Amino acid sequence: MKTFFAVALSFALCSVVHAQAPQSTPVAAVIHVVRCGTLIQPETGQTQQNVTVTVEGERIKDVKAGGEAPAGAGVIDLSDHACLPGLIDTHTHTLLQGDITAADYDDQLLKQSTAYRAILGTRSVKRALEYGFTTIRDLETEGAGYADVDLKKAINNGIIPGPRMKVATRAMDVTGAYPLQGYSWEIQVPHGVQVVDGPDEARKAVREEISFGADWIKVYSDRSYFIRPDGVLDDIPTFTVDELRAIVDEAHRQHHKVASHAMALNGVHNSVEAGVDSIEHGNYIADADLKTMVQKGIFYVPTIFVGEYVAKGRAAAGAKVWEDMIQIHAETFRRALKAGVKIAFGTDIGGFDWGITPAKEFPFMVNYGMTPLQAIRAATTNAAELLGMQNEVGSITPGKYGDLVAVKGDPIRDITILQTVDFVMKGGAIVKSPR
Ligand SMILES: [Zn+2]
Repeated sequence: MKTFFAVALSFALCSVVHAQAPQSTPVAAVIHVVRCGTLIQPETGQTQQNVTVTVEGERIKDVKAGGEAPAGAGVIDLSDHACLPGLIDTHTHTLLQGDITAADYDDQLLKQSTAYRAILGTRSVKRALEYGFTTIRDLETEGAGYADVDLKKAINNGIIPGPRMKVATRAMDVTGAYPLQGYSWEIQVPHGVQVVDGPDEARKAVREEISFGADWIKVYSDRSYFIRPDGVLDDIPTFTVDELRAIVDEAHRQHHKVASHAMALNGVHNSVEAGVDSIEHGNYIADADLKTMVQKGIFYVPTIFVGEYVAKGRAAAGAKVWEDMIQIHAETFRRALKAGVKIAFGTDIGGFDWGITPAKEFPFMVNYGMTPLQAIRAATTNAAELLGMQNEVGSITPGKYGDLVAVKGDPIRDITILQTVDFVMKGGAIVKSPR
């Protein structure tokens, strides 16, 4: 009887979970016909002129050259615009509002409640969407607990506007490795991570985070960067390889992926050995590790713009290494590109102000050696693959979500145009229209 009751109860819980499963903004039966002057399909690199995209409800129904609008359909005239799939930023921090200096960071954790930070987060996600980013992977809340799960829920329930979100909740790091630091040992201060030591604690933390709604697991694999005399960017690794392996194994066992903040030699090497799914930042990656990344299909999310954005402020505060890292990063990016590592677009926005569009990253990728099309692919098809959403987003294809953006001009010729998005549609709902 007891067993039966337990089973019945778990079925009941299941149905509750399903009833609360993410609901998109109700747009059922609404048909939008979007006339695009140019349509850019990142996966093939093809651009077509005068294309009609029909979106029924939240999905793309039809994509064809020319084409007549069906009776009763709302026609959106973008014949002087170029249409692209909705953009994807795979490294955001919606609950952080810029942290050039340690004081910027400490203030947010010490002086702002989680509730206030979540309110600011609602502004971040709205901005992300208006910049044309219809999907994001939010890579940890920086001390705001599980507020990213709540942002995602509020978006999916139609309470606030925002992109599709994959969330990492609390990142993990070891004792003594992550802010807040430098306070008296007699004062308890909050940390921007879940502090985890040893493979058993690590495994438990993965289970806990997944139970509270984490889609991804995020780890910090290194800290304290310095440049060796031979020019290699070195670090102090945080987790041992055994700890990282436990995290990756537990996450993968539960069909979740692991993103690793790894900026330098050992952090990257240990992460790659442990089999994480993406290397975040990767300012320096040894050639041997690039090779392993190709073999294992590990993505590289380079976040170039933020490095340059924070460098001056951090150098002024005494850490000159942030300025020196820029050149090392550029060389690593070129080697990764040449080695054939899969690269996904990610910015670390939140590490810089949400008033700046994440599309600032595109010209940096192009300056570092990508073609504009490769950079667009990084933010569409490649990013969708990293997120396991390749059947849902990343291209303008029948059956996928009606996520599209439009810009005036040709981003294949001038990538900076993506910083001014005139039209945004997410799941068949119009977010922004040309003035
Ligand atoms: Zn980050």
